[in-house]
Amino acid sequence: MPVYKRILLKLSGESLMGAQKYGLDTAVLNSYATQIKAVVDSGVQVGIVIGGGNIFRGLSGVKKGFDRVKGDQMGMLATVINSLALQTALEGEGAKAKVLTSIRMEPIGELYSKAKALELMAGGCVVIIAGGTGNPYFTTDTASALRGVEIEAEVLLKGTRVDGVYTADPEKDPTATKFSTITFDEVYDRKLKVMDLTAFTMCKENDLPIVVFDMDTPGNLCKIVDGEPIGTVVKN
Ligand code: UDP
Repeated sequence: MPVYKRILLKLSGESLMGAQKYGLDTAVLNSYATQIKAVVDSGVQVGIVIGGGNIFRGLSGVKKGFDRVKGDQMGMLATVINSLALQTALEGEGAKAKVLTSIRMEPIGELYSKAKALELMAGGCVVIIAGGTGNPYFTTDTASALRGVEIEAEVLLKGTRVDGVYTADPEKDPTATKFSTITFDEVYDRKLKVMDLTAFTMCKENDLPIVVFDMDTPGNLCKIVDGEPIGTVVKN
């Protein structure tokens, strides 16, 4: 039995690359789609925000001489490409999925509104909210925090390639240990990185818990939704 009625799942753009150096890996998309469909089939309402780092990041554009605002707009468009790819994979699995965009761009996707998102989710449709927040200088982590709070999700599930929050970077420090639960304040105090601070503060101030978990282990998403202690829970 699921412990959540409504979740916001954040997927990084990079995770969609799989073993590739750029772009999209169909095997990863299909694996994510299977897992997401299983969660929807268990009766959970699912909103998704996807990053764009597998295609373009505004800040890396700046290093190459791009204007930041234009670079960020390119990054936001990258999230739309990823969102359409996941929508296609979900539909291929037999799930209902719709892309709503933070910037008006019909017919690619309808403009996002809370009301539209809630209406679709209530009908068992996965809602993929594309285009970040619609503003430059933000990240899709912040978009996921914002949309998570807005659609009144009970939890923000941050799917990454790491299986939780550690005392130190486990790839650099072999003595690093994983937290099963940690408070927002302790994350600040220990200067740990869970999300960028704008996103993190948004979650803390609106009391939206975050679960950081490894999305590449099939079954993890379902387990979290069923209340199993996977990854790290960050809460007040
Ligand atoms: N972006 C933006 N505003 C937003 C969300 C994203 O300008 O509200 C741009 C920004 O340039 C960012 C890029 O989109 O680098 C891709 O998003 P992000 O880096 O968060 O993707 P991820 O790291 O999750 O793949």
